[in-house]
Amino acid sequence: MAGILRSITQRGLSVFAKLGAVGALSTLGAGALLLAGCSKQLSKDLGGTVRMQVPLQDNRGDYHLEQVELRQLESLRSMRGDYAEFFLSPKIQEGSLSGSEFSGRFAKMGDLWVARDVISLTAATIYYHLQKLTDLDVQVGAAGLKRKRQQVALSAMLIDPNGTSSPLKNTALFEATSRALLFVAYTEKQLPIAINSGILAHEYFHALFYPLVLEPLIANGFLSDEQTKRTELGGHKLDQAKKMKAVDANEAKPVLPENTDREVRKRLIHHFLWLKAINEGLADVWGWAYTGDPDFIALSLPSEKITRTLSTASVISFTESSQQNSKVAMIAGLPMRDQAGWITKFGYEIGTEWARFFKSYVEKSQLPREKVLAKILANLADMKKGLLEIQSNTPTEKYDIKHFLLNFSKIQENQSAEACQLVVDSLKSLAPSTKYECKEVDQVLIQGGGFQPHVITEVAPTEVAVDQEELAPGIANDR
Ligand SMILES: [Zn+2]
Repeated sequence: MAGILRSITQRGLSVFAKLGAVGALSTLGAGALLLAGCSKQLSKDLGGTVRMQVPLQDNRGDYHLEQVELRQLESLRSMRGDYAEFFLSPKIQEGSLSGSEFSGRFAKMGDLWVARDVISLTAATIYYHLQKLTDLDVQVGAAGLKRKRQQVALSAMLIDPNGTSSPLKNTALFEATSRALLFVAYTEKQLPIAINSGILAHEYFHALFYPLVLEPLIANGFLSDEQTKRTELGGHKLDQAKKMKAVDANEAKPVLPENTDREVRKRLIHHFLWLKAINEGLADVWGWAYTGDPDFIALSLPSEKITRTLSTASVISFTESSQQNSKVAMIAGLPMRDQAGWITKFGYEIGTEWARFFKSYVEKSQLPREKVLAKILANLADMKKGLLEIQSNTPTEKYDIKHFLLNFSKIQENQSAEACQLVVDSLKSLAPSTKYECKEVDQVLIQGGGFQPHVITEVAPTEVAVDQEELAPGIANDR
């Protein structure tokens, strides 16, 4: 454990130096040294609101140490308060993280608190972001979906139960049983994942998607609880981890009995692939919306840059439904043990296309991001209803993905012409046999919107095809 902590510390420091925070960091180092001789034991009861120095991303994508306020702390030393509770390498017991509560090292310089090691700095940084993400929940109508005090595991140990591979590293995950966010060791030489605010926002979205979509589907038997708890991530099977038994909710499995016929299996795989894709795609949208950085993942994992970047051209080409169908057919033909891995791989691929679509939509919408994010969550709630209706009324049907897009467009109050056109263009690959076009809404419904809202209508097959108007250039990202 000490070895892991030491290596995180050294790498963390080199990363901050590399990111141009040398000046601020030497202040941190000097402060810690200065106070080392005369610092008194940090009281366990010290809490309330404190000023703290944490590394934050600026609007050019660089990280710097900045002063922020951490609110409603019960214990500064444990970084426990209204927004978070931290554990060091915990276990999961009775649906909750358990083990040694985190104990940080902080020193006071004037009225400013500074962390004295990188793991304390990490906890303070995560606390600050959880505070801000909770504020975002209120703006997007997600308050109350999850418990406000988020459990977080630092230096989580997730071990292959067969002992055939090393503990999981270089990732973060949302764990369904405890609903905790887990951060494992980071061994790359870039920005540590636990400091990366975009990756935190990505995982935070999973913590919203679980109660909003997956949990009700599990409760109604659409997804199996047992299989949901069989976790596979990056080739690791995380069943009986030595220190932590983890359940990655994002790996929720469809109910997939061994002896079902091929059509039933294909339908289950279709639904599971879709849920995986939209969960991962929208998690990336949250990461981008929170940071303004379309390449937030690459800051910590540069190898993911090309496949996961959201900074692509504004014209979106969805994976055609036929392509999803062929992926589903391919997976259905594989042995059971290989299916989850391919669903994960294709899920990320399809998810990235959706993430690029929604980023583009936000930019073309001319609306505050929070308004569009709120509609995304409303659309997920509608999708969950649709899936449950299929299950109870027409269980041999498959959820039609184009409805997700059409419904999203339909529930917008004010849809700009450009945003509407983006949906129409995207529908061309999802539903090539149907023509759609954008129409101005007759009545003026806008309240200070400054533009005429548009809605999508289906064009009768005999009519002339939709005009191929040039897409207006995307509105500059205001990050
Ligand atoms: Zn994810």
